Amino acid sequence: MSESVQTRYTVPIKAVEKGIKLTTEAKAELQSIGMMDDKGKLKLKGVSPKMLKRMKLEAVDCPVLKQEIGFVQCYVCKNFNSRITGEVNCRGDPL
Ligand code: SF4
Repeated sequence: MSESVQTRYTVPIKAVEKGIKLTTEAKAELQSIGMMDDKGKLKLKGVSPKMLKRMKLEAVDCPVLKQEIGFVQCYVCKNFNSRITGEVNCRGDPL
């Protein structure tokens, strides 16, 4: 079976004590795709408030940006393919 989307990296999701703040660029991106309102409140489709709360306390060591990224930002990243058993399947294209 051939996969339609390539996964270059399998990135483990880790728990963080304190949520990682979204960057200004990430916020602008989220607002432009309608996933954040003017007040900066996240509105992710299909994600319940409970899930969102958990997602905010998760992070990945992003292999593309070479830094720690909050999972919310990773989730909306164009490289995000899927999340399976605590790992992100990442397309790995340059951002
Ligand atoms: S999906 Fe995006 S943020 Fe997440 S690990 Fe891949 S490149 Fe980094």
